[in-house]
Amino acid sequence: MNKNDTEFLYDKGLLVVLSGPSGVGKGTVCAALRQIMPELIYSVSATTRAMRQGEQEGVNYFFKTKEEFKRMIENDQLLEWAEYVGNYYGTPRDFVDQQLDEGKDVILEIEVQGALQVKEKFPQGIFIFLAPPDLAELRSRIVGRGTETEETINSRMSVAKEEIELMDKYNYVVVNDEVEKACHRIQAIVLAEHLKKDRQIAKYRKWLKEV
Ligand code: 5GP
Repeated sequence: MNKNDTEFLYDKGLLVVLSGPSGVGKGTVCAALRQIMPELIYSVSATTRAMRQGEQEGVNYFFKTKEEFKRMIENDQLLEWAEYVGNYYGTPRDFVDQQLDEGKDVILEIEVQGALQVKEKFPQGIFIFLAPPDLAELRSRIVGRGTETEETINSRMSVAKEEIELMDKYNYVVVNDEVEKACHRIQAIVLAEHLKKDRQIAKYRKWLKEV
């Protein structure tokens, strides 16, 4: 690691990427995490999927037409994007860059293909794979949500199986057996990442130079 990398780690916030198969409970865990870690800045994604009941523009997603989304891709406004079960999802780049520059920690709650793109561009991110306790449980969670057709459920399950194979690419695996436990595990990861020597040492070197 060169000096600039060390300075970078010291000055900027952490990019935490929470990913894993559909239905594993990323949304629920992320919402609960925001309650216990209000300092973690949540990145609101753009999507072309239809708004679900209870969702709000700019809170759950920025809802876009396919044309608008394609324009965002062309203008390089997305840090990552993926097509998932017939719709596009993506992370607006500027917001994330701005928050990290200000030293704030940012969390992305995204599917696996997008997480792998972020890893390519931003390997210093913290990649957390949220895993189901077992596959039967995963299916019942997808069905239980009650918002999906049989066809969508099957296609989400087959995507989920492929996604579990990609666990190896992540830094951490957190089993979502209970939301509260999963949140505390993630909180512990973020704390430990902040305490890593590489993130601390530049600060001490700077002080030593000053005394
Ligand atoms: P849902 O339609 O249930 O809200 O989300 C479907 C999937 O898209 C979930 O796995 C969710 O994590 C993922 N997702 C949400 N926002 C983004 C994003 O900005 N980028 C990517 N790659 N996936 C996203």
